[in-house]
Amino acid sequence: MIKAGSRRVVFVVVVVIGIVVVVVDGGGFTVGKEQREFDYFILALQWPSTSCTNVTVCCTTNACCRRAVSPTEFTIHGLWPKYEGKGWPSCCTNETFDETQIRSLFEDVDKYWPTYRCGLVSSCDNRKGSFWAHQYEKHGTCGSPVILQEYDYFLTTLTLFYKYNVTEALENAEIVASDTKKYPIQDVLNAVHSAFKVNPKLACVKKGIIKEIYLCFDKQFKLRDCDATKSCPKSVKLPKFHKPHGKLNRSKLIGTRRELKMSSMKPKRNPNEKSHRRRTDKEDPSLLRGAHKRRTY
Ligand code: 5GP
Repeated sequence: MIKAGSRRVVFVVVVVIGIVVVVVDGGGFTVGKEQREFDYFILALQWPSTSCTNVTVCCTTNACCRRAVSPTEFTIHGLWPKYEGKGWPSCCTNETFDETQIRSLFEDVDKYWPTYRCGLVSSCDNRKGSFWAHQYEKHGTCGSPVILQEYDYFLTTLTLFYKYNVTEALENAEIVASDTKKYPIQDVLNAVHSAFKVNPKLACVKKGIIKEIYLCFDKQFKLRDCDATKSCPKSVKLPKFHKPHGKLNRSKLIGTRRELKMSSMKPKRNPNEKSHRRRTDKEDPSLLRGAHKRRTY
């Protein structure tokens, strides 16, 4: 039998452990805790070929499997508020992603911000949702006081992506997709530096295969240096895109109704609205200047 005093101690210990587990979980999520304001933004871009390497099962929402439109340039992973040095805030509000808010952006979000997986992603409070829901709820809700709304989060991210074309910057330095070539990492960093005059950051998977490239921005969306790359060796690869191996069996399509609804949602445009990149009072005109349509695949 445990005495009343000991029971109280056990209760307090359990509560404290519970609070610690909720506040900091292993994946970098911080739920239910006041978080200090972020310091700068990272625009994270992913290389489709690397993301698609291990895909063996296809679904309608997975861009690796789209026949005509599989991406052949860096696409968006997310816009992440970051702290100087280590760490980042995450899951800053209880807001949930609402796809109707970005209906007018959907065509571009679908094309330039696709997921390379099937199935739903765990988000804040273990809610499950699309890749976009995950990015908005985990990262986008931490953009205060610069980004306060879902629509702004997606529009800002797309705008930065249009303005700073990393694939083109690499191509201009003759760094192109290849299954055989290796590039000195410094050449890759220099190519981006000569285009944008700031240091990007790279992330690699095994054998120096580039997985992601990061551009960093201050709170006014002015480019700034990122911190140094750690996960890449001295020479790196940028593999070509190959359609996933294995049978793309239609009967094996995976996709929830919600995902399918999103993927079949046609952008509904206001007839008076020329384009979703029409400037609104809230948008920073300097961001939109130079924004251009990307080439089509
Ligand atoms: P993060 O938390 O790093 O911003 O987002 C990564 C999460 O989104 C992971 O849980 C991953 O499984 C999921 N996810 C879904 N689609 C993609 C994708 O296309 N690329 C990456 N990197 N993660 C994806």
